[in-house]
Amino acid sequence: MIGSSLSEEFRMSSLFGGIESGGTKWVCAVGDGPQGILAETRFPNTTPGETIDQAIEFFRQQEAQHGRLAAIGIGSFGPVDLRPGSPTFGFITTTPKPGWANTDEAGPIRRALDVPVAFDTDVNTAALGEQRWGAAQGLQDFIYLTIGTGIGGGGMVNGKLLHGLLHAEMGHVLIAHDRQVDPYPGFCVYHGDCLEGLACGPALNERWGQRAETLAEDHPAWKLEAEYLALALVSFICTLSPQRIILGGGVMEAQQLFPMIRSRVRALLNGYIQAREIIEDIDRYIVPPALGGRAGVLGAIALAQQAVGALS
Ligand code: ZN
Repeated sequence: MIGSSLSEEFRMSSLFGGIESGGTKWVCAVGDGPQGILAETRFPNTTPGETIDQAIEFFRQQEAQHGRLAAIGIGSFGPVDLRPGSPTFGFITTTPKPGWANTDEAGPIRRALDVPVAFDTDVNTAALGEQRWGAAQGLQDFIYLTIGTGIGGGGMVNGKLLHGLLHAEMGHVLIAHDRQVDPYPGFCVYHGDCLEGLACGPALNERWGQRAETLAEDHPAWKLEAEYLALALVSFICTLSPQRIILGGGVMEAQQLFPMIRSRVRALLNGYIQAREIIEDIDRYIVPPALGGRAGVLGAIALAQQAVGALS
């Protein structure tokens, strides 16, 4: 998705900008891929004006040093407006983050730097980065979920990033919640006990009365967390038929979750989906991002490259 026309000057440059726009921090980088990052910076997301200006200033400095950027990609927290032709394309829409609701995010950057700006969700962008350089290389159908402050999911179907009506909101699917086992009502301000409401980082903190990263590896919190994530993954496997599932975000830094989730996914599917990837090779089916915490900003660079047709 792109919001500006191209000039010959842009076509000739092979330098791209990427922004991973998160609710708590922004990461900006300039380069052409994981081995070709010329500069990278990160700063807290405060007010829209201050945060966007900081990004513009970074790219101005980089252009002064390295020359014109061909395009900038933004992978944004959301919800966002991705509808081409919409008057609010490139806007953050209904976020509860103070100051950011109904804010034009892509527009000020495009105008200040006079470059094409490609815009997508943070998770679609990270998915694109993983497909280009990471754990989804060669795949046409896969999903990427982040489990952290919130839960979001994106990915590709038939080789194209998932869009549709607005964009996928995999974090807000409703899953089975046994209140006898887990009386916690959920954290989501819209739905209470949707997937995000039950399994995001803040839900873990609130349910157990301590920060998730301080919970011992054998704490019962992780078994419950793995169950909720497995329930959601089974729904995604049955609806989207992904060839691989990548799980990133702060909560997934608890590596013990991976074998627990794999085991529950296989048990819940109960042999129904006859795919070798799931039955024999699930360790390579449900995986962490190969680009680690850089999937977002590298994906934003891939998004910029894709937008100007520079992806080979
Ligand atoms: Zn929800």
